[in-house]
Amino acid sequence: MDIHEYQAKEVLARFGVASPEGALAYSPEQAAYRARELGGEKWVVKAQIHAGGRGKAGGVKLCNSDREIEEACEKMFGRKLVTHQTGPEGKGVYRVYVETAVPIDREIYLGLVLDRTSQRVMIVASGEGGMEIEDISANEPGSIVRATVEPAVGLQEFQCRQIAFKLGIEAGLVQQFVRTLQGCYRAFTELDATMVEINPLVVTGDNRILALDAKMTFDDNAMFRHPAVAELRDKSQEDPRESRAADRGLNYVGLDGNIGCIVNGAGLAMATMDMIKLAGGEPANFLDIGGGATPERVAKAFRLVMSDKKVQAILVNIFAGINRCDWVAEGVVQALREVEVDVPVIVRLAGTNVEEGQKILARSGLPIIRATNLSEAAERAVKAWQSDVARGIKVRVAT
Ligand code: GDP
Ligand code: MN
Repeated sequence: MDIHEYQAKEVLARFGVASPEGALAYSPEQAAYRARELGGEKWVVKAQIHAGGRGKAGGVKLCNSDREIEEACEKMFGRKLVTHQTGPEGKGVYRVYVETAVPIDREIYLGLVLDRTSQRVMIVASGEGGMEIEDISANEPGSIVRATVEPAVGLQEFQCRQIAFKLGIEAGLVQQFVRTLQGCYRAFTELDATMVEINPLVVTGDNRILALDAKMTFDDNAMFRHPAVAELRDKSQEDPRESRAADRGLNYVGLDGNIGCIVNGAGLAMATMDMIKLAGGEPANFLDIGGGATPERVAKAFRLVMSDKKVQAILVNIFAGINRCDWVAEGVVQALREVEVDVPVIVRLAGTNVEEGQKILARSGLPIIRATNLSEAAERAVKAWQSDVARGIKVRVAT
């Protein structure tokens, strides 16, 4: 789960990470009012979306007056901001953050990520802040400093000082840097984050170290332990297909292809996507409907997959171990009678009571394309999608 910049700054502040003074606004007028409350003469107005790269896309504006703030906001509110991280559809701007502008001496990149290879929290830093980390590693790979944290003892002060020295941080500022880095690490581990990124972390003209930007991602599976963090979820920033799935307790990730997938088990769902690609198609989604594929769950899954207008064929791939193929087949037939599905449906069943399951599908009279193994299922799904004739098939129109 991602959160907004202003939320990440609030969270990190509780762990001793300083950032410029700022306030949130939901309208241009409120933004100007917030700036007056903050005082000063220069402010930065920042569109709050769950993506970086806002600076280059017009989502970060330096303003010198009320009028400029309102003008900057007019261009942001209600619009979709497209940055290199949002994809072409962009993300809607419904909140802006107004900050007191600060004079910048140096921009530093600081990131904490979960490194799966070393199975540790890894700190990544660079003296070339301001650029995205991908650009830093392409243009200035030598500037990148890395350190992993031994989980039994946590992040040590000497490690922080070492990083500070490698970044060339002035002796008088090292203590501030250590406090900032320790704060990020504590926030990361205590709140089950998977990423904390401060880009840029700046050294100001008056010798302060401030997080000018902040990004945090949390482990969805740990959110039950952190209700206060879970509350920060902003559905307006999520793929609507994914929020609907989460609300229904289904494990769904939207993709760009046109072959919808309904699968039980995450591993099988991944394998199904691979097989579709191998057969020359593109999956429209990852969907794991879980072990107990009841007719209700299967129907929910069909509704969800069909709500994606790009879907031109649906591949149902079920392996029944604890479950039974005949129950699943009943579920598929029932779902197809309830949900309007006007694209070809390919079903592959395997496991317990498979013959019974196949009979139920055959007897239903529905134009279900059956397959006996995964590669056949993937090939048939791709063929069905490619064929204009098949695309015209109406399986069932709900009444
Ligand atoms: P991002 O593009 O989405 O990562 O947004 P950032 O919050 O990182 O802002 C982009 C850039 O705007 C930063 O790298 C800074 O160079 C600049 N910026 C942001 N806030 C301030 C500020 O208070 N003062 C100055 N001078 N520049 C700022
Ligand atoms: Mn940034």
